[in-house]
Amino acid sequence: MKQQQDFWKWAERQAADEVDSAPEGQLDLSELPPDLRLSVPDIQQLHADLAARLDGVDLVITDNLRRMVSARRKQGRHRLRLHHMFVGCGEETIDALVTLAAGGDDVDDARQYLQQYVDNHRDKISFEVDPDELQACGQHHDLGPMLDKWRERLDEDQLDDVVITWGRYGKGSRTIRFGSYDFDRELIRVHPALDQRWVPEFFVEFIVYHELLHALYPPVQDDSSRRVVHTDEFRRMERKFPRYQEALAWERNNLPRFLDD
Ligand SMILES: [Zn+2]
Repeated sequence: MKQQQDFWKWAERQAADEVDSAPEGQLDLSELPPDLRLSVPDIQQLHADLAARLDGVDLVITDNLRRMVSARRKQGRHRLRLHHMFVGCGEETIDALVTLAAGGDDVDDARQYLQQYVDNHRDKISFEVDPDELQACGQHHDLGPMLDKWRERLDEDQLDDVVITWGRYGKGSRTIRFGSYDFDRELIRVHPALDQRWVPEFFVEFIVYHELLHALYPPVQDDSSRRVVHTDEFRRMERKFPRYQEALAWERNNLPRFLDD
């Protein structure tokens, strides 16, 4: 890690000599693996191109496995996290990234364009991920927009890379777990039993919200070194869900319908 940082510090100094004016905003390369050799001037150029058109941008170049692009605005600053597959990309791709970050009418087109770009550069992703493995859009409920909505509202860096999928049906059981959060993969799984017409949207959203809170408030050890998964802080945040009481009541009333007899 130390060695890696030294390498990038060195690389940034080298690159600084080749760029005319320093772009506004931070460039963070600390997430790149040390054995990845990228053209540092190309990285700097990408940052400069984005910063010039977005009035400053903090850029993190990632080696993510799942989330290739994310753009947020926080405290008046643009924060972009881009997979290194974007280093050296063309003008049209820069346009799409700028549109994604700035928002506006064309943002859906930009998203589509970038999805295509990602699909065309899958070979740059460290471990090939089976895209079929993640399925956010179900028969009746689409988890993607729910995740996006609450990610935006909670507005925390830790949520930038979280991804979501419907889980698979396991064996029949007398208990059911509606959702889970996988810290290693930054992945929310939602139980497929919730993907039914009679399950209200707000309840599914409540589960998504609950699992996102797990990403924000990891388990802690209490005084007797017991693992506390739902801390006071977690519960306090959970109660902020707009239809919290209604969600709990719905769960109480409908739980038997999910369980095998
Ligand atoms: Zn929980």
